[in-house]
Amino acid sequence: MNNGQKRSPRAVVLFGPPGSGKGTQAKLLTERTGFPQISTGDMLREHVQAGDEIGREVAKLMHAGSLVPDELVNALVKQRVARPDCRDGFILDGYPRTQQQAERLGVLLEGRGIDQVVIHLVVDYNKVIARLSGRRQCPVCGTLYNVLSRPPKQADVCDLDGAGLVIREDDSEAVIRERLEEYERQTRPVLEYFHSAGRRLYEVDAGREVPPVVCERIYKLIENGG
Ligand code: ADP
Repeated sequence: MNNGQKRSPRAVVLFGPPGSGKGTQAKLLTERTGFPQISTGDMLREHVQAGDEIGREVAKLMHAGSLVPDELVNALVKQRVARPDCRDGFILDGYPRTQQQAERLGVLLEGRGIDQVVIHLVVDYNKVIARLSGRRQCPVCGTLYNVLSRPPKQADVCDLDGAGLVIREDDSEAVIRERLEEYERQTRPVLEYFHSAGRRLYEVDAGREVPPVVCERIYKLIENGG
């Protein structure tokens, strides 16, 4: 594929509203590319579960559907991408979400000689709501299900390890609304910034096709540039 030539490491930024399928695509792309998934949402939830200092700082904000402070997520991502498994590339899922985060990421990647490609997952608003309100997750292996579009074989039980599925606390209706508002207020405008900063940015329709087909499309874009 790369004919033995050394290519620059790449950061694949999955960008889109809650429910656009960032987590699902990140997992599929991890299998396809071998790059690790870096989900700031998952990292923050781990801190909340551990009840440590970071977890105590962010728990209230997350439960309310608000964004957590930029400095905190910037530091988490900086530490994470320095780990050896990120040497050839990685998938950013849910980061950056503000212009300040996007600027800091640009500096971080430039300093490390990492190419950046942004994939904007475009999905209809109503579909996003249906996806988020039907979402269930395995607390053990992280597999995502949806009661409508991707139900487990047995209701509320993970196909892979038999654990009882859970609803994320921030998937309640009021909190979903707040997360979408945060997206409109703080995150969608980052697209303008990506444009003005000259980032490689591709739009992918993530509302029609099944996840593996969407994944293949993204894979081609990041490999060949479309
Ligand atoms: P979703 O994309 O479905 O909203 P995530 O798991 O990515 O879910 O994020 C869950 C919550 O974690 C967000 O609502 C926010 O509180 C926090 N969070 C995750 N990533 C960031 C980020 N990059 N900046 C600020 N807050 C974040």
